[in-house]
Amino acid sequence: MKHMLCVLLTFSLTLCAGRITAQDAFSTDVRVWLMRWQSAPLRITCEAPWQALSRDNSTNIPPAAVVVAEVKGNRVVLRLGTAAVRSEEWNLQGEAPFTLSSMQGNNSRTYRGRIVLRVNRGRLQVLNVLPLEDYLLGVVPLEMPPSFPAEALKAQAISARSWTVRNRLKHQADGADVCDGIHCQVYGGVTAERESTSTAVRSTAGLILVRDDAPVDATYTADCGGQPASGNHSTPLPPDTSESGQDYCSANPQHRWSLGFSFLEVWQAAGEKDSPQSTPKGDVDVQIAQTDAGRRVLKVQIRCGDFVREISGAQLRSRLSLPSTLFSVRLDQGNAVVFEGSGSGHGAGLCQWGAAGRARAGQSADQILQAYYPGARIVPLSEAMWEWRKNRKNSSVR
Ligand SMILES: [Zn+2]
Ligand SMILES: [Zn+2]
Repeated sequence: MKHMLCVLLTFSLTLCAGRITAQDAFSTDVRVWLMRWQSAPLRITCEAPWQALSRDNSTNIPPAAVVVAEVKGNRVVLRLGTAAVRSEEWNLQGEAPFTLSSMQGNNSRTYRGRIVLRVNRGRLQVLNVLPLEDYLLGVVPLEMPPSFPAEALKAQAISARSWTVRNRLKHQADGADVCDGIHCQVYGGVTAERESTSTAVRSTAGLILVRDDAPVDATYTADCGGQPASGNHSTPLPPDTSESGQDYCSANPQHRWSLGFSFLEVWQAAGEKDSPQSTPKGDVDVQIAQTDAGRRVLKVQIRCGDFVREISGAQLRSRLSLPSTLFSVRLDQGNAVVFEGSGSGHGAGLCQWGAAGRARAGQSADQILQAYYPGARIVPLSEAMWEWRKNRKNSSVR
């Protein structure tokens, strides 16, 4: 009987191989620094009874009561009607999500998990402490359009989970793991959650990408322009194109773009802050001086008479708000500088429009991830954390 059970188990495991199935959720909480709530006073409500706990105080608060949090010196003061209690740190726990809003009440968001309030660098610091899987429910819909195909959303969920595990120490100096802005991953709590993205998170629960026994720093980009950024690799990654030669990300309405500037605008953008505003006299020219293995612009040279200015592609992209560094440049009539390019974003890691294109072409989340993170494996987080710790231990011994 035991043998029979083993055979059955092996058989069912074989059947599951290659398919993505949800695993046990990772139980550790993520501490999300809610940067959008830095200005006190802050209104707090909860539809269930809740408690405000500090080192030496425990206050029970009835459902729907409005508590106002303010900063006074190095303490956070909680006011309920005329009563006020103060502490260096408050831990808010309730049986329902908390809703935070500004004093005008016109800008509110609801969050699962606990809320921690404290003073950091003289300002109110609001942390949302919640399980990793609950955190992702509020991330994926803000990082990828919820209308994208299911397999693309699943690939995004696994990327976002991997990124979080890999980057959990990003805000360690401020007592948090990640922030809720574009610096980390945009997070909007329950308010942001959508059915399609929640399904994607739940159906991939606990799965992350691992390479060389460490969670992958799984960055993602809106549109790679048909050529994923090679990052530190000296050889280019394969282009993001189908067998028929079409870019998987070409459904993005801004996949190809063209932007024109006057020569003066480009000359000034390439100068230092305190450089003269006027252009020298003489012939002008704009050239790409260096590209990386994946054709992304590393350096642009701008010439005016006997003067030459050089600027990195990334800096020029930022100063002129170009969508990407995958571009060509030419001088048009009247010395207009025309940039023609493709893609949007840094171009590294998962291409979101490409993931949607691949899903529409019938690829699974697994296949999509293999395309953008070559050599990475999809494994349960519990296994990855064990491998990661083992690896860290070994490297710290050396
Ligand atoms: Zn951050
Ligand atoms: Zn792409």
